[in-house]
Amino acid sequence: MGAGPGDPNLITVKGRNLIEQADAILFAGSLVSETAMRWAKPDCDIQDSKGMDLEEIVAWLIAKAQKKQVVIRLQTGDPSLYGALIEMVQPLDEQGIEVGVIPGVSSAMASAAAGVESLTLPEVTQTVILTRVEGRTPMPEGESLVELAQHHCTLCLFLSITLLKKVQTDLRAAGWSDDAPVLVIHKASWPDEEQIVRGTLADIREKCRAEKINSQAMIIVSPTLGARHWSELKKSKLYDKSFTHRFRKAVS
Ligand code: SAH
Repeated sequence: MGAGPGDPNLITVKGRNLIEQADAILFAGSLVSETAMRWAKPDCDIQDSKGMDLEEIVAWLIAKAQKKQVVIRLQTGDPSLYGALIEMVQPLDEQGIEVGVIPGVSSAMASAAAGVESLTLPEVTQTVILTRVEGRTPMPEGESLVELAQHHCTLCLFLSITLLKKVQTDLRAAGWSDDAPVLVIHKASWPDEEQIVRGTLADIREKCRAEKINSQAMIIVSPTLGARHWSELKKSKLYDKSFTHRFRKAVS
C-alpha cells in the first residue's frame, strides 16, 4: 500500500486502518517514515526492507503471508509509480496469495502542495507528465525528456535530482528558455525536513547544490509555476458564472 509522501498524516484512512490490523509490515525504510508504524499492533512483525533486494522482499512477503492474515508492503507515495509493484505482485499471484493495493498520495502531489502550485491552469497547460530522466533505467522509445518536454506542459520528474545537468540540456533542446521556472522539493511533507528551492532552468542546479539536495527530491518544471503571484489569470471555467455544468446552471 501507499504510505504517502512522508508525513504520516497523509496516509489514507483506509491505509491507516489496515496498518492497525496488520500482522506483518515490510516498509521501504529510506522513504517511508517509521512514525507510520505507531498505529501497528504491539505484536505486529515490522521490518525495514532497506538492504533487501527484490527476491528477498518477495520471499519475506510470501513467508509471512503463508502464516499470517494481513501482510503489508508499505511503499512511498503511490505504489503505481516507480514502485516495482508488478514484480512483487506476480510471485504472490503464483503462490495464490490474495493481493490488494491501497493508493497513496504521490510525492508529485505533495510537492505541488508544498509549493502552493497548480499543475494545470486554464489556457496555460492542461497536461501533466509524470516521468524521469534516463539513468540506469533506459527510457522506452519516444519517452526521452527532449521529446516529452516539447509539449511545454507540466513535467514532474522523479528520480532525477542527481541528473539536473541532463534536465537542463534536454529542456533547452526542447525549446525551454533559461528563465523557465523550476521548483525542487526535497522530502515534501516530511515534518521539519521539507526543503523548497525555486529557481530557473539556468540556476536550479547551482541552487540545489548550495542547499546540498541530492536525493529524495521532486523536480517540477511548468509554465504554471508561480501563478499565485500573477496579476492576470484566466479563471477555470468550472467556477465561471457563464459556464453551465451538471450541478449548476449558468447565469447570463
Ligand atoms: N511511488 C513514489 C515514487 C517512488 S520513486 C511516489 O508516488 O511518490 C522515488 C522518487 O520519488 C524519489 O527519487 C523522488 O523523486 C520522489 N519522492 C519520493 N518521496 C518524495 C518526497 N517526500 N518529496 C519529494 N520527492 C519524493
